[in-house]
Amino acid sequence: MPDLHMAVCMKVVPKPEEIRVDPETRTLLREGARSEINPPDMNALEMALSIKDEAGGRISLISMGPPFVEEYLRVGLAMGADDAYLLTDRAFAGADTLATTYTLAQCLHKIGDVEVVLLGEESSDGATGQVPPGLAEWMDYPLITLLRSLEIDKEQNVLRGRRNVDGGYEILEVPLPAVISVATAANEPRFMDFERKGWAFEDTQVTMWDAQDLSAESQFIGIPGSPTIVTGLEQAASQERKNIFLDGGASEIADQLVKILRSN
Ligand SMILES: Cc1cc2nc3c(=O)[nH]c(=O)nc-3n(C[C@H](O)[C@H](O)[C@H](O)COP(=O)(O)OP(=O)(O)OC[C@H]3O[C@@H](n4cnc5c(N)ncnc54)[C@H](O)[C@@H]3O)c2cc1C
Repeated sequence: MPDLHMAVCMKVVPKPEEIRVDPETRTLLREGARSEINPPDMNALEMALSIKDEAGGRISLISMGPPFVEEYLRVGLAMGADDAYLLTDRAFAGADTLATTYTLAQCLHKIGDVEVVLLGEESSDGATGQVPPGLAEWMDYPLITLLRSLEIDKEQNVLRGRRNVDGGYEILEVPLPAVISVATAANEPRFMDFERKGWAFEDTQVTMWDAQDLSAESQFIGIPGSPTIVTGLEQAASQERKNIFLDGGASEIADQLVKILRSN
């Protein structure tokens, strides 16, 4: 039986506490913000690594982003992934979720033999959660979202995923190949393996693919492939809590409280 080939889609995002939004252009101002691997993608990688620990197999990392993302993919290689692909081209810039999922799908088609595609439930910057379902659509694969654990049955050629629902959990089964999204904090991502660090950061290649390598059609990538338009941007109301101390006897306090509640 051939080894199971899993792919983990990994997005490098600005640290949420360091990004600002330009009120004029309604775009994110990323300058000066430090980056990190989107936290749920670390949970997706950990899920793939646990399966590899138990049953063997191979893990490819895929990211679409600027060239600096390469260093972050190397962190994933040092954690235990086997290959990394960086989809990088100025023509990919400005991609919304439709163009992003098309580009990721072109990469999966080119790699060819991936049976399980794992993604985080959502990114900490765009936060649409649309990439897992969009990718499943382009690939025409079944999808299970928000998994907390995963079991692969190669004999039956199925994947079983467990996710929480109100008051319990459900186990869903889909045939392979399939796409899954992993719930944030589903597990505790491991540290880099120091024995792999030299290989991951110095000896191995990250494969760089541009639009031409992916045979990507120009109307489906970057700005031309992105129908999403930001039509408005508002500051959310502050959720700050107030402390008010009321003085007086019980009935006096009750009266004051009623007044305050009615005035809000
Ligand atoms: C309203 C709006 C406007 C935007 N405008 C712009 C813009 O002008 N320019 C611009 O560059 N971006 C823009 N973006 C961001 C862009 O849409 C997203 O970066 C991208 O489409 C992924 O969407 P998401 O972050 O919501 O992913 P989600 O669906 O929330 O992410 C789910 C999972 O998909 C995977 N994933 C997502 N993105 C990638 C990736 N790039 N590589 C690998 N895996 C990935 C990860 O596993 C992630 O955990 C905009 C986003 C929104 C919501």
